[in-house]
Amino acid sequence: MNVPLADPRLLGRQVKRIAISEEEIQERVRELGQAITDSYPDGELLVLGLLKGSFIFVSDLVRSVMRPLQVDFLVVSSYGSDVVSSGLVRLVYDPETTLEGKHILLVEDIVDSGRTLSRVIDVLQERQPKSIEVCALLDKHVSTFLPHPPKFVGFNAPNEFLVGYGLDHAENFRHLPYVASLQ
Ligand code: 5GP
Ligand code: MG
Repeated sequence: MNVPLADPRLLGRQVKRIAISEEEIQERVRELGQAITDSYPDGELLVLGLLKGSFIFVSDLVRSVMRPLQVDFLVVSSYGSDVVSSGLVRLVYDPETTLEGKHILLVEDIVDSGRTLSRVIDVLQERQPKSIEVCALLDKHVSTFLPHPPKFVGFNAPNEFLVGYGLDHAENFRHLPYVASLQ
């Protein structure tokens, strides 16, 4: 799909192509919202967005879920030196909301190796939630074995570097309403 040439959001920065259009995303988000609604007939539901990449996805998704829920966010350091040597991910921002006894739905922008998610889940399991499931906008299916595969997936992602709809490259492109592949 061709990138709208006149998209003023891009301002001369190059993206290769639109991988997933705005319309496709909006339709899929509504379907995910319905699936999530159906999956939680009772109990307290806490939607936990992993910042920063999930911020737009979370805001659209929770408006498609037709049941009471709470929203909070967490910030983890994924790649690089911030991961402590014990192998546990560091929570840079820890949700203040109580997790105990609640259904937790972790919302992630994109699952690549799945490392980030499985570490976050290990940390959150200690707080005795009733359940933990994952909703990912995109799944690259890079890892053949994930201890916690996402229950809800928006789209299978091509193995390219993607930006837009929350995903960034050096904090750029997060505001695109579509997902694009970088040149
Ligand atoms: P994982 O721990 O699953 O290997 O990595 C997941 C994280 O890597 C995502 O939350 C995201 O921050 C980053 N990531 C992986 N693939 C991409 C991509 O194609 N584009 C962008 N912008 N970030 C990515
Ligand atoms: Mg991320």
